[in-house]
Amino acid sequence: MKIIIIGNGVAGISAAESIRKKNKDIEIVMYSDEKYYHYSRPRVIEYLSGKVPAEKIIIKDKEYYNENNIKINLNEKVKRIDVNSKKIVLENGKEDNYDKLIIAAGASSFLPPVKGFDLNGVFTLRTIDDADKIIKFSQNKKRAIVVGGGLLGLESAMSLKNYVEEIYVVEFFKWLLPRQLDSEASLFFQNMIEKKGIKILLDKQTEEIKNKNDKLEVIFKDGEIIETDLILFSAGIKSNLEIVKDTGIEYGRGIKVNEYLETSIKDIYAAGDIAEFNGAVYGIWPAAKEQGMAAGLNASGENLKYTGSILSTKLKITGIDLASIGNIEQKEGIEVITKKENKKFIKIFLKDKMLTGAILIGDTKNYQKFQDLIKIKTILKDPSSLLTQ
Ligand SMILES: Cc1cc2nc3c(=O)[nH]c(=O)nc-3n(C[C@H](O)[C@H](O)[C@H](O)COP(=O)(O)OP(=O)(O)OC[C@H]3O[C@@H](n4cnc5c(N)ncnc54)[C@H](O)[C@@H]3O)c2cc1C
Repeated sequence: MKIIIIGNGVAGISAAESIRKKNKDIEIVMYSDEKYYHYSRPRVIEYLSGKVPAEKIIIKDKEYYNENNIKINLNEKVKRIDVNSKKIVLENGKEDNYDKLIIAAGASSFLPPVKGFDLNGVFTLRTIDDADKIIKFSQNKKRAIVVGGGLLGLESAMSLKNYVEEIYVVEFFKWLLPRQLDSEASLFFQNMIEKKGIKILLDKQTEEIKNKNDKLEVIFKDGEIIETDLILFSAGIKSNLEIVKDTGIEYGRGIKVNEYLETSIKDIYAAGDIAEFNGAVYGIWPAAKEQGMAAGLNASGENLKYTGSILSTKLKITGIDLASIGNIEQKEGIEVITKKENKKFIKIFLKDKMLTGAILIGDTKNYQKFQDLIKIKTILKDPSSLLTQ
């Protein structure tokens, strides 16, 4: 049997790894349009800071693929899938047949429809190559604006601080990290991040970018104009769906998969940032890894049910410990308990005395423990004791 995997990110490599662990004979062929062996996408942020070389963020080197008999084709972009004759067609015209196909082609940075987004000096960050372009452009520049106050935007701002003197983070929403924090936690966090020299502008919609002499001008909906050298858009992701259009493979925001990571077409699976499970495109590393692993096992004949991942994220490089775990929506039936100290903030969300979500700022030592409590749905005798541990 031959399994082709499109994409060499964490979903693709986890699929290959799980197939090979169970079966030594299946032929595994991977395609990636990037030139690097599998690397840590989250660590691209550290690479952008200039403090970590590219080799340090590579997770699987050439030997790994050789030792595990995985054929990796780098710099080769899949253009089309022919589901009837079970083959893929590459941009360079080559074709390759599969028995089973795993689509793990990930996502790209989403660029909101802002006039002038294609001007020189406007960037997004997803790959090592993107980071290289930003680093090159940032030399001897004074000011940068990051559009998007999510995790990636804030971490990118911290990395860019190594090159420019002044940095703004502009957020469309009323508070920072809207996916991870509620307004109270966000305000607590904002005070901490501003002390690190990052200027925050909230509730601000970017309308247009214009060239002005050798600089850029960002025009906001409220009429304010800020001059800058560089703009980095960090406004979310969009799944790379081009290859499944006109194939009959069903998709919404991502490729729709069932609990076996199967798409609507037999023998084709999808995993990671390109997959939509139960209406959700998770967009986080642990979910892509879990889905990739399950897709690999199922494609190789196992029967592993995937039931969803816990949404959890941690800030990495801002020097502030912050984690958001599970569901942090405050709705009817949810009990919320908060503890706030000088440099520490903890908020837990409970349903029927079971932990469903948590926000930790200043101290994240309970990150794993809280994740486990959410996963195994433990009934807590004294939930407030979690605030003092
Ligand atoms: C800078 C950054 C920091 C992040 N930090 C965190 C974090 O701290 N925590 C967290 O949980 N998540 C983080 N994420 C998100 C996380 O990295 C992703 O959820 C995860 O990498 C998704 O893995 P994937 O394998 O689905 O997709 P990807 O990593 O996008 O891999 C897909 C691969 O397929 C390739 N490909 C696409 N189309 C084709 C094609 N047609 N032919 C061949 N190859 C193709 C792509 O080039 C890419 O190499 C971060 C993301 C970024 C960009």
